[in-house]
Amino acid sequence: MKYFYTILFLYFGFSLNAQLKSPAEFLPGYGKQVTYYHQVENYFNYLVQNSTSIQHKAYGQTNEERSLNVYYISSPENLKEIESIRQTNLYSIGMGPKPEAVIDRAIVWLSFNVHGNEPAGTESAMNIAFELLNPLNNATKEWLKNTVVILDPCVNPDGFSHYGNWLRSIGGREPNISTADREHMEPWPGGRENHYAYDLNRDWAWQVQAETQQRMVLYNEWMPMVHVDVHEMNLNEPYFFPPPAEPMHDYITKTQKDFYSTIGEMTAKKFDAKGWSYFTHEVYDLFYPSYGDTYPSFNGAVGMTYEQGGIGAGRAVQMRNGNVLTLQDRIDHHTAAVITAVETSSWQKDKLIKNFRAYFKDTRQNLKGDYRTYVIKHNGKNEELAKLLEANKIKYAYADETKKLTGYHYQTDKQSDFTLEPNDLIIGTNQPKALLAQVLFEPHQHLSDSLSYDITAWALPHAYGVDAYALKGELAVKTKPLPAYKGKFEYERVYAYYIPWNGRESAKLLAQLHKNKIKVRSARKAALYRGIKVSPGDLVILKGDNPNLTDFKEVMTVFLQQKPDFEVIESGFAVSGSDLGGESYPLLEEPKVLLVSGEDVSSTDFGQAWFYMDEIIDYPVTIFDLKNIGSVKLSEYNTLILPDGWYSLDESDKLRIDSFIAGGGKVIAMAGALNIFEDRPGYSLTKFASEAERDAAKSTKESEDLEARYYNYESFARRGISSVVTGAIIENTIDKTHPLNYGLGDKYFSLKISDAHYQLLKGAANTAYIPQRYLSFGFIGHSLKKRLANTVTFAVEDKGQGQIIYMIDNPLFRGFWENGNLLFSNALFLVN
Ligand SMILES: [Zn+2]
Repeated sequence: MKYFYTILFLYFGFSLNAQLKSPAEFLPGYGKQVTYYHQVENYFNYLVQNSTSIQHKAYGQTNEERSLNVYYISSPENLKEIESIRQTNLYSIGMGPKPEAVIDRAIVWLSFNVHGNEPAGTESAMNIAFELLNPLNNATKEWLKNTVVILDPCVNPDGFSHYGNWLRSIGGREPNISTADREHMEPWPGGRENHYAYDLNRDWAWQVQAETQQRMVLYNEWMPMVHVDVHEMNLNEPYFFPPPAEPMHDYITKTQKDFYSTIGEMTAKKFDAKGWSYFTHEVYDLFYPSYGDTYPSFNGAVGMTYEQGGIGAGRAVQMRNGNVLTLQDRIDHHTAAVITAVETSSWQKDKLIKNFRAYFKDTRQNLKGDYRTYVIKHNGKNEELAKLLEANKIKYAYADETKKLTGYHYQTDKQSDFTLEPNDLIIGTNQPKALLAQVLFEPHQHLSDSLSYDITAWALPHAYGVDAYALKGELAVKTKPLPAYKGKFEYERVYAYYIPWNGRESAKLLAQLHKNKIKVRSARKAALYRGIKVSPGDLVILKGDNPNLTDFKEVMTVFLQQKPDFEVIESGFAVSGSDLGGESYPLLEEPKVLLVSGEDVSSTDFGQAWFYMDEIIDYPVTIFDLKNIGSVKLSEYNTLILPDGWYSLDESDKLRIDSFIAGGGKVIAMAGALNIFEDRPGYSLTKFASEAERDAAKSTKESEDLEARYYNYESFARRGISSVVTGAIIENTIDKTHPLNYGLGDKYFSLKISDAHYQLLKGAANTAYIPQRYLSFGFIGHSLKKRLANTVTFAVEDKGQGQIIYMIDNPLFRGFWENGNLLFSNALFLVN
């Protein structure tokens, strides 16, 4: 008998080993300490090696060379047919060819930790994967029979590691639960964003960042029906799950809203049973289209945000109510909520699939916007716009005939006649991504509630500074997949190269030329050279300026590959305008660029400037912490970039900047950085142009305050709203002759994200300003709307040998304002 027991014991021992280890069994510190990213990967590798219900797919790499991964979790039978399941879904919505086998499954995508310093995301991802795979869990096994889960444990591995490594580096043996401890005070710039301090949860539609670009390729290959975006928020807040808050974008469908309610009720039951606090349909709205909930929603999915209190919570923290919140608590809450999302999706699988397909099938009936076709007039900027459309899988074509049409004109906000011409870009709504196209092109977004906490306007024609029309009907014209380029002008000899200044590729090429010490001139006036029309800002590279280049033509040919719209000029003699040797073609100075970082600077705004320099134009930049300004030899540089921030420079540091400018330096100061110069003797920057205007503003404020005395308690939160702008597009009149405006178009539409404003400056060139009567798109509080008239948006002041460029709005905001990128390039390269 004894022998028998031994056998039995061995048998059970073996069986226990065959079970899957939970994260707590695999990682000794799990739930007590933030896991290192490589350990997260190790755990998932372990799961892949020990379960037949999970597959790994690496989909890319971060800026810091960490791997981006998703895991497909489903029944072993489904995983064998994973490709057919994917193809069936794509085919059913018109985005892919017919699969060999038709297999319908619910497709649920779970994204964790898009914000790096919200680590309960990735931590809970391990636990959720385990729960789904646990051989002893019969419920999840059942769900996975009809559901494929695509689990991305960490959307932002660089940010997650940044935060986790920091927390490890400062943590004592035991967690310190006092919020005064440094464990709860992450230093600048923090791990929320990615390597370039970009918020990846604002980047879904624009795909400026590498993580998003790579993920969206996979996303569009799958097109999930449900997307769950897992976050953390202020550590004192109770848990948040759907339904979301108003304002919800008009285009969120009834079936999507119904699913929010279903999932909300299911999740509430689980939380009620545990006695956990939660809230729904408050705070987190569904409007701005570039979040992890809205973007999937505009792609037919049920897009959802889940939030656990936890930012700054470290390993454990005492909350305001006296309770201690541990990392394990945060994992438990996320696990319960997200598992319920999978459960609900499985339970509602048939409905989910039906609704998802109807969303795409009935697109033409479902469309809510006024317009069915968008036409972008042919210009040098359309290539960048086409790249964005391609990244979003929005189909487009180019006109191949001429036709007289009438449509809504974006630049004037009016109906107007125009002529469609060959090479104009056309985006129609008779396509699977019709609704997304409408969201991105809609000139007037309908806002159901003005209290949105993000930008409320983003129409692509304004962002790209292109001349565009929206048409009410579908357009039946001859089209072609690519624009036809006119051939180059013939030439016998190279006197100079001509490069149009029309977008980021122009700036990128100029950056390359500067780096290679090739001398470049920029036109200040229009001119004509045997058919080649030169506009202000366009670049000219004279052979005569570059005598050191013995093989001028060969060298230039290599550089010019990236800018195929260049031309060769045979003679410096102008048919009209000035000759190439004249004063209309100043030599451009090679920028030697400094960029400040540190506590005084907004990390995301710093990141946008850094990303612009490093990635968009690929040009050297020296970054220093502002507190070290005393030890930086400013005179070795000629350009200083001051991003938005909360600057508190002392007088001696301000004097350093004064003498940098006086000695020939150029300062580009953005938004909050303007306070360094405001009302400073010798600078023209001041909020009011005269005492009378200052008094007028004071009395307006006074009467508003008097009126506010009658507001009741409930409207208290809304009383400030009349002077608020969270993000609106505003028309600017521009001085087209000024180098800061070259290539921008007839007007500039600026994205205004703060109420800061200055009246037109005396003693400076007000290069862009908001006119008395101006067009605006998106929400602006009514009293602010009046005050913004006749205020300046960009100005250039000459001082001593140098210059200061005031940017009241940040043209680099989130990197997606393409005309803003060009404006910044003008500031960097052409203004001198
Ligand atoms: Zn977040």
